[in-house]
Amino acid sequence: MRRFISLLLASLLTLSLASCGKSAAGAGSPAASGPPASSAEPVKQDSPTSHSGDEDAKPFDRDSVTWVDWTGTVEHLFFHPVVAYPQLAFDGDAQANGIDDFMVTADEYRKILQSCYDKGYVLVDINQVWNESKDAAGNPVMVRSELKVPEGKKPLVLSFDDVNYYPYMLENGFTYKLVVGDNGQIWSYGKDPQGSDVYSQELDAVTILDQFCRAHPDFTPYGARGCLSLTGYCGILGYRTQTEKEDSSAAHEANRQKEIEAVKPVIQALKDEGWTFGSHTWGHIRLGTKPLATVQADTKKWADEVGSLVGPTKILFYPHGERPDGDDWKKTGPVFQYLQAQGFRVFCSVGVESFSYIKKDIPAVICDRLHPDGTTLRHSRQRYLQFYDAKDIIDLSVRPQREVSWS
Ligand SMILES: [Zn+2]
Repeated sequence: MRRFISLLLASLLTLSLASCGKSAAGAGSPAASGPPASSAEPVKQDSPTSHSGDEDAKPFDRDSVTWVDWTGTVEHLFFHPVVAYPQLAFDGDAQANGIDDFMVTADEYRKILQSCYDKGYVLVDINQVWNESKDAAGNPVMVRSELKVPEGKKPLVLSFDDVNYYPYMLENGFTYKLVVGDNGQIWSYGKDPQGSDVYSQELDAVTILDQFCRAHPDFTPYGARGCLSLTGYCGILGYRTQTEKEDSSAAHEANRQKEIEAVKPVIQALKDEGWTFGSHTWGHIRLGTKPLATVQADTKKWADEVGSLVGPTKILFYPHGERPDGDDWKKTGPVFQYLQAQGFRVFCSVGVESFSYIKKDIPAVICDRLHPDGTTLRHSRQRYLQFYDAKDIIDLSVRPQREVSWS
């Protein structure tokens, strides 16, 4: 039996759901202090771009390469939001070790991208990899798409879980939200450790990848970026677009509508840049243990509050990596059937390899993703050598003094 990592992964992301809106409305809320996304205000860049080689390169010329069929594994890496300010994340508070386990810093992330690029990986969108077709009898089935890559290159899917800017992250050294700058590009907004406003493209996983792709257009021959896996209970992308069970006031609804209008241009700018979206369930719920009725209510809420903004998606990222039918991915229980009937076709968990399995009884694909984070940087160096060497990536000078398994 294949060994799957039993996932407590991202358990730190399971916050008290009831508290999100309350926290978000408090002091320091990005909703209260950030500029409107479509604001014509000039974007301040408090951390000047000075990395050499980051200047925009010429657009990728598709005729300049020989395209070859790729029938092998499509590798898939996923990240959580990256740490913008290690001194806030790793300050010894109750969250520090969880962030050490499940996240990488912005600098580590940049080095990981560079290494993947140097090793010949090129980005493809997860929606490109599988599609729905018909078998000989005319029944719908999922199939691997014909996928071409430039000769000598290897396809890589990236996904990013919990791109919601949860309140606890705002206090722990992460960026606060994504905004559109007056140059039409995506920027992050947040506060530095001194409490000053910072607009940057160097502190957030989304903007760092955009920047990297602009500097290295051949990293993304199709223009793909990554798939953003969104919950809904704290809104999306840093905007508090969620309903709150315990706050049905007109004031909350008015603020919610304002946030909905503010996030729309951000979503559009992300799509224009090549980003796609997937569901991470509304409430970050455990699909292996929740009753069907709970899953149904949650899925409807995601469609109402998140799908209505980002558009329909075929991709579901399991919270905590927890499969509805346990580790038996050939089984198709009522929760899986329901989710598939709602339009999901690609069901992503987390594991020790970029495994995928096309189900025979229902049009759906099961897949696992690898997870660059503190845990694997410290303890799974070997497994990730095809992408990078953890020794060259991990920044032990900013992380908590904890064990590494390599020397
Ligand atoms: Zn998650």
